[in-house]
Amino acid sequence: MCGIFGAVTPGHEAGRVAALGLFALQHRGQESAGLAVSDGNQLMVYKDLGLVAQVLDERRLPSLRGELAIAHCRYSTTGSTVWENAQPTLRLGPRRAIAVGHNGNLVNTRVLLASLTGGRSRLPASTDTELLTALLADEPAADTVDALVRVLGRVHGAYSLVVLDERRVIGVRDPHGFRPLVLGRLPADSGAEHGGAEPGPPNEPAMADGWVIASETAAIEVVGAEVIRDVEPGEIVVLEPGRPPRSVRFAEPRPATCVFELIYFARPDSYLEGRNLYEARRRMGMELAREQPAVADLVMPVPETGAPAAAGYAEAAGLPYREGMMRNRYAGRTFIQPSQGLRQRGVTVKLSPIREVVRDRRLVVVDDSIVRGTTTRAIVALLRRAGAAEVHLRISAPPILHPCFYGIDTQVDTELVAATHSVDEVCEFVGADSLGYLSVEGVLAGLDLPYEAFCFACFDGGYPEPVPYDATDRKFLLEEGPSHDG
Ligand code: SF4
Repeated sequence: MCGIFGAVTPGHEAGRVAALGLFALQHRGQESAGLAVSDGNQLMVYKDLGLVAQVLDERRLPSLRGELAIAHCRYSTTGSTVWENAQPTLRLGPRRAIAVGHNGNLVNTRVLLASLTGGRSRLPASTDTELLTALLADEPAADTVDALVRVLGRVHGAYSLVVLDERRVIGVRDPHGFRPLVLGRLPADSGAEHGGAEPGPPNEPAMADGWVIASETAAIEVVGAEVIRDVEPGEIVVLEPGRPPRSVRFAEPRPATCVFELIYFARPDSYLEGRNLYEARRRMGMELAREQPAVADLVMPVPETGAPAAAGYAEAAGLPYREGMMRNRYAGRTFIQPSQGLRQRGVTVKLSPIREVVRDRRLVVVDDSIVRGTTTRAIVALLRRAGAAEVHLRISAPPILHPCFYGIDTQVDTELVAATHSVDEVCEFVGADSLGYLSVEGVLAGLDLPYEAFCFACFDGGYPEPVPYDATDRKFLLEEGPSHDG
């Protein structure tokens, strides 16, 4: 999972808008951040390891000039957290200069690498995004959009992209639409920063309007833009100063949005598939209470992502809702840290129980997932040490049984506690008094959307895009060749 943002701001610095939008996407990737800008003639990239606020600060932004910008924050699934692997990537080809920000994983990296003239030695970084950028820069088609159409016809897997050439910002969503991508309009009268011209009539963009594209609606709204629509699976959206967005279809849509985006990854104030994610998660919590009741004194979330589902559980169960743990907001998310050692150490830094709430109480503790089980185990132990009488763990998603190949850090089945243990065994491992998961049907009831709209592969193994090599040696393969970005 990564965060991507693109901005076209006629008459104004797009870099500032893109950096602000990227702040709102920090939860999607915390390993590196970067910004690419174009002044109409030349591309410039600045990127580094660290959080958005550390990388894109006031000292850097003034030198990143231009009306066109893309930005990216990275979460890697394999490969090192090194400067070279930060994005946006930049490539100067014979036909074009191009910068790319990518959210997702390609699944035919080896085949694509074989088609790259000069092979692996030409790639300065070890990400599939670097490979994709090289293929796009090499493509002989004169126009970047034509180059995208030709190259993407050979690319399989998950990719939401922001692409920058000298004159345009281009948004791309793969035919399955695994990762979200949203288009927004920054009205010309939205304030001094972007203003001056009279606004056009509704739905008829004024020439001076700005345009933005982002992983989530929350980032669109943060920069003062209005959400227009999702970029469709299999669609390219071209943004140019002084023109309305242009849509190019490059593949038939076969929608399979990652359902985990709705359950957990995306911000609760974002909208996806027409659903506000706080409300969707609250309703999933209500379904969870119906499917997995517990005799308890109160309901509490694992902060912060478990909160909407916990509120729904409490509402449906008629139990009080309390915050029994506090999260240190500045310590990052445990799931997103790159190493297991850091994850385990991180729990006590990030979460602390509120003794007055949990002592001598029978708790329903609601979380949105159990991946490896080690974080959950540490949380249960914290609550017991704080005096909890009973801990009934309720998960607002089904058990994760299969690895994700489309941009999430669950590489092999052996890393997934539910893939190798029964529910009772997982319950014993994490040290809870009881454990209950929400069913696939319960997730869909909460969303009020059909199964066919989503990828549920990590729950039921139904991969929408065939994965052409064995999961067990993927890490080794990728260490030899390009790695994958989230
Ligand atoms: Fe999302 Fe799971 Fe599908 Fe990966 S396998 S895209 S995490 S639903």
